[in-house]
Amino acid sequence: MGEIKVERAQHKRAVLEQLVNMSRSLGEPSREYVVLGEGNTSAKIDERTFFVKASGFSLSDITGRGFVEVYFEPVLEMLKFDRLTDDEIEQRLNEAKVDPSCPYRPSVETMFHALLLQLPGVNFVGHTHPISLNSILCSVRSKEVLSGHMFPEAIVCCGIAPVYVEYAEPGAELAKAIHKGVHEHIEVHGEPPKSILLENHGLIALGSTPKEVETITVMWDKIAKILLGACMLGGPRFLSDEQIRRIYTRPDEKYRQRLIFKRE
Ligand SMILES: [Zn+2]
Repeated sequence: MGEIKVERAQHKRAVLEQLVNMSRSLGEPSREYVVLGEGNTSAKIDERTFFVKASGFSLSDITGRGFVEVYFEPVLEMLKFDRLTDDEIEQRLNEAKVDPSCPYRPSVETMFHALLLQLPGVNFVGHTHPISLNSILCSVRSKEVLSGHMFPEAIVCCGIAPVYVEYAEPGAELAKAIHKGVHEHIEVHGEPPKSILLENHGLIALGSTPKEVETITVMWDKIAKILLGACMLGGPRFLSDEQIRRIYTRPDEKYRQRLIFKRE
């Protein structure tokens, strides 16, 4: 029994260390993915609990103190209500903490982190507001210009297609919209997405490892910069569905994907 406890404590420490490193990397100011306290990250510990960023901490210099361990069940329960007031949300999020004496409050986005960390193969989630991508997501043509893939690396790193979520208020409303988009994606493609694009808001990257979350985020920054250039030259030329599917299922691309996302 004691041995299991020690093993769990070691596992938790290892997960937290990976999450801190991933968060600091995503928060690195020169990358322009987030400023101030923007963005939030999370990691699954086991079937019952996960770490999520506490409100008010900056990703760039976050330490283990900036994360709260939360139970999945009470957070997922919150999504069954038609409407919760801000006070009710705050109270329920506080009650979901594994250590009630922890002085920090889980981020208001904890609900979508709980949903996404339940998907098969998702152990880490990184949510950022990259300037490059938000230049597009805040534009009137965002849905149209983000509806296709332009080059192979984007497919290999970011998945066959992103989920596009129209603007929803951060909190329960956004979590419900994400839930709907993710399940529609699973119905069409038979697997969970790797990327979620939030209109007028930002990006969510889903990974089995921290490396995967970082790679997806780096690649979306690149996609956004290329897309802005393509829009200046008459608009993006998308690959065909057939070309996309071929790249996505090619054995050498699968091999490349495994190398890119391998655990460190
Ligand atoms: Zn956000």
